Amino acid sequence: MSNINYISTRGQTPPLGFSAAVMAGLARDGGLLIPEKILPPDDRFRQWPALSYRELAYELVVRYADLSQVEIAKLVHDAYDTFRHPEVVRCVPAGPVQILELFHGPTLAFKDIALQFLGGLFSLLLAKSGGHMNILAATSGDTGSAAIAGVRGRERIQIFVMHPRGRVSAVQERQMTSVLDANVHNLAIEGSFDDCQRILKELFADLPFKDRHALGAVNSVNWARVLVQMVYYFHAAFRHCLATGARHVQFAVPTGNFGDILAGYYAAQMGAPIKRLILATNENDILARFFNSGAYSLGNVVPTLSPSMDIQVASNFERYLFDRVGGDAAQLRALMAGFARTGKLCVEGRDPLFVAGVGDTAATRATIKRYYDQHGYLLDPHTAVGVHVAEQFLDPEAPTICLATAHPAKFGAAIREATGQDLAHHPLLDALADLPTRCTRLPAEAAAVRDFIAAHAV
Ligand SMILES: *Cc1c(COP(=O)(O)O)cnc(C)c1O
Repeated sequence: MSNINYISTRGQTPPLGFSAAVMAGLARDGGLLIPEKILPPDDRFRQWPALSYRELAYELVVRYADLSQVEIAKLVHDAYDTFRHPEVVRCVPAGPVQILELFHGPTLAFKDIALQFLGGLFSLLLAKSGGHMNILAATSGDTGSAAIAGVRGRERIQIFVMHPRGRVSAVQERQMTSVLDANVHNLAIEGSFDDCQRILKELFADLPFKDRHALGAVNSVNWARVLVQMVYYFHAAFRHCLATGARHVQFAVPTGNFGDILAGYYAAQMGAPIKRLILATNENDILARFFNSGAYSLGNVVPTLSPSMDIQVASNFERYLFDRVGGDAAQLRALMAGFARTGKLCVEGRDPLFVAGVGDTAATRATIKRYYDQHGYLLDPHTAVGVHVAEQFLDPEAPTICLATAHPAKFGAAIREATGQDLAHHPLLDALADLPTRCTRLPAEAAAVRDFIAAHAV
């Protein structure tokens, strides 16, 4: 059991234990919760390269969580029992890079790795406290189905997921609405994804409503999500070094909210053999611009073939920024206040761990086609963005591992566009076509969603 505390990046709330930090999601001062220290390698660390995925997950969680060893062992076991691959993830060579497949969970997206764990963790904490929770989420695609898969059928939890009606892909919609568990409520909002997000913000800002219904969130700022994402960086880096004799590796990460690559950053700080992190964005390139210029400045969101990365403000970035200003919460607050006012902030210097680049829509299509034609490997469009950027930073001393964040069958239309063929299928997704579905249509008004939650909350 770890007694590490979690502090706010904005420095204006008292520290919390792990369980309280997980239930809180965000700090009450609006900051993000981070461990008061990132642990350096210890004596046991030398054995880590020989550990299985689940054993590594256990070793990491035990260092950061105020839970018993028995509780953690069960959480880790249950979370990854639902995966179709015994080692949870799988690494396959393709041309000059290694593809680390993170999509063998129930919804075929890498978000399952964190959300299968988080669902079990919420259940455990609520059972211990005797409480209940009503999760509210807004999705443009992947997050919704992974969050639903993480909590379906769980006692003490109801989940309400808003999606813009008719504006998520047919497969993504069916992945959500075919889940018929009584605690799952799909809300098709008559509006855009922005409307869904506006309603979400409005209801979370309504504190009496939020407190009355114990409204909870599953978004990527939850520390538990970042923590369990560190596991695959250790696992893949160790395995690859052991197999090839390399001293270290580099990872290419298709990035949206900066959650995935942040886990890599913390893993490197803990001593994982990582030489470099290659940050890849699509045309929504605020983070690539930041790592290349030191300026973080808002642009417009444009739709691309990799919709889960169509993001301008990266919600996890503040955790990294906190380190870049030397852990000075006052300076961080000033930067964030300036950003809220002007849409821009600047930081001096460079972090040698990061390089960054952009894969636009044409590059995404071309990379999908080239990897299929030349290497017989079908990349999903998000992964293709990462591979495209990775190819610009190949390093003879550090093998390149590209994170594959979704199965290509989730993005069949992009694959058809890129290759001219209908190549991307998965039996799980094909089977959805015949399943019954359940969904409630609501107007794009916070009041309508508020009433629905009040009527169905636990
Ligand atoms: C969420 C997501 C990403 C982006 O991950 P972040 O943690 O938000 O940077 C990339 N690819 C896919 C398929 C995703 O679902």
